Amino acid sequence: MEHIIDIEHLQKHFGDLQVLHDVDFNVEKGEVVTIIGSSGSGKSTLLRCINLLEIPDGGEIKYKKQNILDSSMDKGDYRSKVLMVFQSFNLFNNLNVIENCMIGQTKVLKRSKDEAKKIAMERLKQVGMEAFANSDSTRLSGGQKQRVAIARALCMDPEVLLFDEPTSALDPEMVGDVLEVMQQLAKQGLTMVIVTHEMQFAKEVSDRVIFMDRGVIAEQGTPEQIFNDPQQERTKQFLSRFA
Ligand code: ADP
Ligand code: MG
Repeated sequence: MEHIIDIEHLQKHFGDLQVLHDVDFNVEKGEVVTIIGSSGSGKSTLLRCINLLEIPDGGEIKYKKQNILDSSMDKGDYRSKVLMVFQSFNLFNNLNVIENCMIGQTKVLKRSKDEAKKIAMERLKQVGMEAFANSDSTRLSGGQKQRVAIARALCMDPEVLLFDEPTSALDPEMVGDVLEVMQQLAKQGLTMVIVTHEMQFAKEVSDRVIFMDRGVIAEQGTPEQIFNDPQQERTKQFLSRFA
């Protein structure tokens, strides 16, 4: 299988605190990988390093065999291919819904306004938000904002979508809509790396589950292996909190 992302010996410190210890991690094309683990275990830092929101201080991150930390790498281009969806949505509040979905297309991909608009409508439809195309983005519910954020990311034709706890900031009744959209994307073969506390969702959607603990990948496997037959004591302990 083709690895889209290949991480070796990744290390990250914040001051004296080592947050990632020698993390090896890869993602295959079309794969859905979920990352679970306690708060503070380094999940967000790992995603943020993949997206270059944090610069690692050791190891390698390769995207399609190219080292993304190389000075020759076009980081703008990389960031338009490997996109992050945040817990807090990060919509542009001064832009309406469809403008949020168009701006990256016109500015980064240099698409015409007409083309960007057409693609934006298709993507909004895909997440069930086409009726809100001209709405003020600040007036949407959390679940609606997150679906727009996903549509905005899809407009860039991403190779990989990274999700950092996309439903953690949502009222419980909104969570299902967002997870359903993500499940559809998974079925369509989009490559995704998802940090989540939604264990049932992780069980259903993942090709592979990674359990992080104190800055290392403590265990990984299929959902069946991790949820039904975890090998490590710390994995069992973590999962027992969700039983
Ligand atoms: P998780 O997403 O698993 O909850 P994080 O990756 O956010 O974990 O954080 C891992 C550790 O790194 C935590 O101890 C956190 O306080 C620390 N940390 C994260 N970001 C920073 C930062 N920008 N500066 C200092 N410490 C940070
Ligand atoms: Mg986090």
